[in-house]
Amino acid sequence: MAADSGVKTCDVSGCSKETERSISVKQVKGSNLTLKPECVRSAHLCKDHYREFKKETKKDRKLEHLGY
Ligand SMILES: [Zn+2]
Repeated sequence: MAADSGVKTCDVSGCSKETERSISVKQVKGSNLTLKPECVRSAHLCKDHYREFKKETKKDRKLEHLGY
């Protein structure tokens, strides 16, 4: 579908937006995001999914920090 123009698309399952950031798959697995099966090492996320990921991890840290 997508031409190989050097533009990577988001690795979240069902998403085909342009990649904004790349993070490790391990980190993503700790969040609610579901990655495409072929994504094993680093996950490339679009702006929206990166924001979602960041929001979740921030939430986790906050909970830890509060000691709940
Ligand atoms: Zn995405």
